[in-house]
Amino acid sequence: MTDILIRGGDVLTLAPDGASASRRDVLVREGRIAAVAPAIVPTEGVEIVEAAGHLVVPGLVNAHFHSPVNHMKGALPSLPLEIFMLYESPSLAELTPSPREAYVRTLLAAVEMLKTGTTAVQDDAFFMPYPTDEVVDAVMQAYTDVGIRATVALDQPTVPEIDKLPFLADLVPANMRAELAAPAAMAEADLLAAYGRFVARWHGSAGGRIRAAVSVSAPQRVSPDYFAALDEISRAHGLPFYAHMLETKLQRVLGQTRFGGRSLVRYTADLGLLSARMNLIHGIWIDDADIDLIAEAGTVVAHNPISNLRLGSGVMRFRDLRARGVPICLGSDEAIADDAVNMWAVAKTAGLIHNLAEEDWERWPAAHEVLDCLFAGGARAMGAADRLGAIEPGREADLALVDLDTLAFTPLNDLARQLVYCENGSSVRLTMVAGRIVMRDGVVAGIDEAALRAEARAIFDARRPALDAARRAADRWMPHYRAMSLAAMGTDVAMERRVPGR
Ligand SMILES: [Zn+2]
Repeated sequence: MTDILIRGGDVLTLAPDGASASRRDVLVREGRIAAVAPAIVPTEGVEIVEAAGHLVVPGLVNAHFHSPVNHMKGALPSLPLEIFMLYESPSLAELTPSPREAYVRTLLAAVEMLKTGTTAVQDDAFFMPYPTDEVVDAVMQAYTDVGIRATVALDQPTVPEIDKLPFLADLVPANMRAELAAPAAMAEADLLAAYGRFVARWHGSAGGRIRAAVSVSAPQRVSPDYFAALDEISRAHGLPFYAHMLETKLQRVLGQTRFGGRSLVRYTADLGLLSARMNLIHGIWIDDADIDLIAEAGTVVAHNPISNLRLGSGVMRFRDLRARGVPICLGSDEAIADDAVNMWAVAKTAGLIHNLAEEDWERWPAAHEVLDCLFAGGARAMGAADRLGAIEPGREADLALVDLDTLAFTPLNDLARQLVYCENGSSVRLTMVAGRIVMRDGVVAGIDEAALRAEARAIFDARRPALDAARRAADRWMPHYRAMSLAAMGTDVAMERRVPGR
């Protein structure tokens, strides 16, 4: 691999009290940052990237994402999570993706991320109705080929639908209840075997750029034994562990009805499974005791502010978590619930939404704190706190060049605020992952984007009639799910995370 010298750029540095930039050259060798210094003399054969007028930033990390709905942007109206999921991914045999379809849909978002400077993604990939090696391999091959850094888990619920949701058993007519009580499409033992093959085949591949994680989806969606077995895999290989927790008020209510009044965070801690490897996803409807448990365990919280708005989930306790030293990373969540895959928009929303949650403006997020979540928080979530998230010698060469001669930065008043509040990704000129230039001037290396878009249109246009029919078939559940959702919304959980509208 040729050495690359990024010459004359302004390198972004984050400190606890703010962000700054200084003119530095960056030497990249063997996938890592070899040196950062004012004037590095190029050796023979080094490739020079002229970066004058550009900001060199660490690669953005999309710390929470689900690639299997990459092709479904804008497909659904805004709905609460539990209603949304009813329509999101119907489990129909004719909708099972081919490996090529999974490959193409994975590329769609990976290209969007690389074009806007996102160099790493944590993909909590679910597979309907269950993961097959061929489709999982297609997803992993897409990430391998496109050049992004990806950590991927198999997110597969294993308990029957009726056990995941409160009130529902009493709300559906008896003749519909059996369907909700049907076992999951793949048994836990088979999923564990799939994980074994997945980790053996993909973890650490592409020079360590591609890695495995584990996922329970959410604690209430699997058995305690399966939860523990995944934790064991996570511990043995040092893998991040993804778990959605307390995203919605309904999930807080579920703790009252199914878990003996315990929150899902407490339930996880009682199982001994809340850990520093865990990415606790969303964490909106958490109480002070939950925050104590999260802080004590060193768990990372994945914050997805746009998804939280899109699904009306609520406002996360940003300042309370930060004040306890809980690492926060940022994610777009899935492309059907953002509906872009653009971390700049996520950062901006994270920088704004919490202003509504607190009257004391001194507790509102500062722009540099949001950048800390985006870069260092993302690195920490991936288990790479010392390898990613900063432009420093010894770290992986994951970075982006941001053109400062754009309207977003003209005139340059405050670097951190303009990165968070002004930039939308359109100033990103070059993206590097593991020392390789994977995007330059809007073109992702090795990808014919026009052909990719054309193929995606052909594949997914052909799928639409079956998907529409499946969604219409789901309508029969709507009255019961609506009754369940409203009952949960009307239950007192001794906290409020939604903005009062009246
Ligand atoms: Zn999610």
